[in-house]
Amino acid sequence: MKYVTFGQLLEYQSFFSLSSVLRSLILKNTVMKKLYVVALLSAILFTSCEKKEEMSTNPFFSEYQTPFKVPPFHLIDTINYIPAFEKGIADHQAEIDAIVNNNETPTFENTILALDKSGDLLGKVSSVFFSLNSAETNPAMQKISRTITPMMTKHRDNINLNETLFEKIKVVYDSRENLDLDDQQLRVVEKYYDDFIRNGANLNEEEKTSLRELNQEISKNQIDFRENLLAETNKNFKLVIDNEADLSGLPEGIKAAAAETATNAGLDGKWVFTLQKPSMLPFLQYADNRELRKELYTGYFMRGNNNDEFDNKEAILNILKLRAKRAELLGYKDYADYVISNNMAQTSDKVYEFLHGIMEPALEVAAQDRDDMQKIIDREGGDFKLDLWDWWYYAEKLKKEKYNIDESELKPYFVLENVRDGMFYVANKLYGITITQLEDMPVYNDEVQVFDVSDKTGKHIAVLYMDFHPRPGKRVGAWCGRFRQQTYKDGEKIYPVVTMVMNFTRPVGDAPALLTWDEVNTMFHEFGHALHGFFTDGEYDRTAGRLPRDMVELPSQVMENWTGQPEVLKVYARHYETDEVIPQDLVTRLLNSMKFNEAFNTVEYIAASVLDLDWHTVGGKTDLDVLTFESQSMDNINLMTEIIPRYRTTYFNHIVGGYAAGYYVYLWAAVLDSDTFQAYLDSGDIFNQEIAESFRKNILEQGGSDEGMVQYIKFRGQEPSIDPLLNKRGLK
Ligand SMILES: [Zn+2]
Repeated sequence: MKYVTFGQLLEYQSFFSLSSVLRSLILKNTVMKKLYVVALLSAILFTSCEKKEEMSTNPFFSEYQTPFKVPPFHLIDTINYIPAFEKGIADHQAEIDAIVNNNETPTFENTILALDKSGDLLGKVSSVFFSLNSAETNPAMQKISRTITPMMTKHRDNINLNETLFEKIKVVYDSRENLDLDDQQLRVVEKYYDDFIRNGANLNEEEKTSLRELNQEISKNQIDFRENLLAETNKNFKLVIDNEADLSGLPEGIKAAAAETATNAGLDGKWVFTLQKPSMLPFLQYADNRELRKELYTGYFMRGNNNDEFDNKEAILNILKLRAKRAELLGYKDYADYVISNNMAQTSDKVYEFLHGIMEPALEVAAQDRDDMQKIIDREGGDFKLDLWDWWYYAEKLKKEKYNIDESELKPYFVLENVRDGMFYVANKLYGITITQLEDMPVYNDEVQVFDVSDKTGKHIAVLYMDFHPRPGKRVGAWCGRFRQQTYKDGEKIYPVVTMVMNFTRPVGDAPALLTWDEVNTMFHEFGHALHGFFTDGEYDRTAGRLPRDMVELPSQVMENWTGQPEVLKVYARHYETDEVIPQDLVTRLLNSMKFNEAFNTVEYIAASVLDLDWHTVGGKTDLDVLTFESQSMDNINLMTEIIPRYRTTYFNHIVGGYAAGYYVYLWAAVLDSDTFQAYLDSGDIFNQEIAESFRKNILEQGGSDEGMVQYIKFRGQEPSIDPLLNKRGLK
């Protein structure tokens, strides 16, 4: 109750400071004057006892009193975050100080384990705040992010660059062979030691100061980049259509969705298309009006590149230069070297070689597809050369011609809830888990669904949140995160709370949400990450939760292999009006068409991966121009003019965050996932229990408890082969 009052006071205060003219007008009125004074006094009173109030009412400061101890979203207010971050950092620092000030000889328990278990509150508030800042942000959240990001960076550096702490870790590390540690404990010691070296523990004082500055600068630029991109995607561009004839070619459902978007934007009677994929892609796929396709797609690929206040060229160049300096300071050749040396691939040369090896056949097939599409254009009397904004439109026609299949013919069979349940069915068949919807759970938005996950024996093992549709405060794409990671506390297992966030087509009118084939696969993909989150089982946070980067996408991508299996389609692909199971003939055509346009997907993906690597191997050269660099990079791989990289530099969010010098990992993992699924196919049973059990035990449960290739060989008995992937994509 006190919170509401305090929150309201804050609002009044900002109202008063809104405009000095307005304020002086108000102050002329004596009654108002009194009110103003009262408000100010109360504000002071409330501020002075705020700390005490905080302790008793800030939901982050006590154990969550909710079912399964999920975050109490209904109680969390934006004003809770900063105090929770402040206390989280202070508590964590106190734990670190206790390790540092301990006079006993450093041991695994008093140093490594104590470090591994530290930072509870900070983890608790971070997981909620950063998840929501992606899925449900607003100006207040963005402001908090700007405040806490430098605090967090500084705090991380205070730990990573703490000399005494590192000395203690080094004592344990140097004597690790004589400490009677088990394999996992040894690995945890080695990983922490490496982490500290990689974060600058071996640098001298002056170098450490530079590193701190670089880290702060990088995080500032990352926030700029992300906020610009959010505005560029969700706010700054709309394609508004007021002439129905311009909708020619579009399926009814797409038109209805665009009309709804228009109404929501206060443009009743018109149609609006946005740069969010569920809105943009169908337009590119079906709209006959070539000029409008061009306008929409240009809006998309020019994001962050319009030489205005949202331009991202400077922010990204800053990030790249700062990273190069950081890598050099830490003794690496370049940033890619810094990142990849810790991955399965180990060197950027190996990654380039890997990418080029697949690019070559992919370009050949893509060129063939392009020529076939040009034939359609010529035959229809179009007097133009296929261009960027034509690919989806003519690919759709070519697909229809070659496989007699049309995406809109499939959609009625992909009802969101059925796809979701089909995916639960697959998990049940593979791993015996049951997933049931929970009612009346705390959620951060009413659209969010919550599920209980239990194992074969009915024992609860996780909670799953699912958030399906685009909203203005949600960033684009799809991702899977955690409100709580699995961990052990005093020997007792704490179960994870996992969240899947997507941007799928919304239901329109009375019809349910009908997904595209791509969205179906995306849902299975994110669910694969979720399964990984459910099953990870490790005593130590450092090794349980962190896989080598280029293995992270294996658990997710492998799930996509089940989407098109006829016995799985029979379960989830049912017509939304008739409940009829997808006809066998349509399944056959779908399966035949699955390789279609894979060359395009592979080419635009590899182009982006190469762009990422090129940026991160160029070092600290200062005279680079973003656009020139980008076009040279693409020329070097002979990218055809009809395709651009899946992400251009100014909206390449992956490389601003955790996928820098690592966008290639999806394809790397695709080799692993195709090879994994081949094991099921070879056994003649896509639900083969022995293989599923081994995958769960050796990959999903393990997290990062061993080197990636070692784990993979334990599961598969041999190194992965690239052939299943090439076959699957029709590139061989
Ligand atoms: Zn993924």
